[in-house]
Amino acid sequence: MAKEFKGKLFVFSAPSGSGKTTIVRHLLKQEQFDLEFSISATSRAPRGKEKDGVDYYFLSRDEFFQKVKNDEFLEWEEVYSENFYGTLKTEVERIWAKGKHVIFDIDVTGGLRIKRKFPEETLAVFVKPPDINELLRRLKNRGEETDKKIAARIAKAPVELATAPQFDKIIKNYDLEVALKDAENLVSDFIGLTS
Ligand code: 5GP
Repeated sequence: MAKEFKGKLFVFSAPSGSGKTTIVRHLLKQEQFDLEFSISATSRAPRGKEKDGVDYYFLSRDEFFQKVKNDEFLEWEEVYSENFYGTLKTEVERIWAKGKHVIFDIDVTGGLRIKRKFPEETLAVFVKPPDINELLRRLKNRGEETDKKIAARIAKAPVELATAPQFDKIIKNYDLEVALKDAENLVSDFIGLTS
């Protein structure tokens, strides 16, 4: 008989600019892990080439709060002033129903909430940047944000960094190649793949 599928949840959280999105994208390409991205809902406008239903479910503020009222979120957060983000319960159901594990790229508060809701199934990973100056450099290099938005992201970093000990694992993203390998090893171990 086929082994019963037990879906896992992989949370990657970090201050903006730590490289968590790069790590998550890399893991999604590793087919042996059977991971699928949890598409968050957000009230912020799409940026650049972002597509609805791929990068995010882009909702109006009213639509977002209707879902809050209907208790459709596993967690939600005003990550930045006036910008709301949340994980819909249907995302986990959708991905587990396909026999895949869920991977999240969400903020530290949301990440820890998922861990509290699914303590056994979740591996919560904190991605640690070398220091705040490096975060600032990376955010500026990305060139996607205004100086005001970058400043808001940097302002949150110390509080976010202080949550690191609450995570199951910490990956130091000082050297990307090393961080990617560390992330692969963590996922592989948690799924129970033999290497
Ligand atoms: P961005 O606007 O750069 O796409 O994302 C801003 C922040 O919101 C990032 O730290 C991202 O990880 C976080 N985020 C994205 N989706 C969610 C979510 O569903 N819940 C929470 N709590 N944070 C999220």
